[in-house]
Amino acid sequence: MSVIVTCPNWCTTNHLGNDEPIEHDGPRWPTVEGVSGKSWASVGICTDREHGVVVTLDADYGPNLTPQRAREVGLQLLEAASWVENHRDG
Ligand SMILES: [Zn+2]
Repeated sequence: MSVIVTCPNWCTTNHLGNDEPIEHDGPRWPTVEGVSGKSWASVGICTDREHGVVVTLDADYGPNLTPQRAREVGLQLLEAASWVENHRDG
């Protein structure tokens, strides 16, 4: 199966048999919860068609963060940035 050949070794995406996957997902950091109910922020790694391996920041329900949680997200972003620099070549 060519998926094995074309996926970087850190890819966690289930490509469902797609022979030539273009986008890949890497590791994700633990989701950080906002102060209100269901809001959250999440840092991870993915590929971008034009820019290669990049850091992804997802958030929903407009997370308002305590200083502690804001630092948590900030540290995750720093770690993710380093991860990308260490995995530029696959
Ligand atoms: Zn993949």
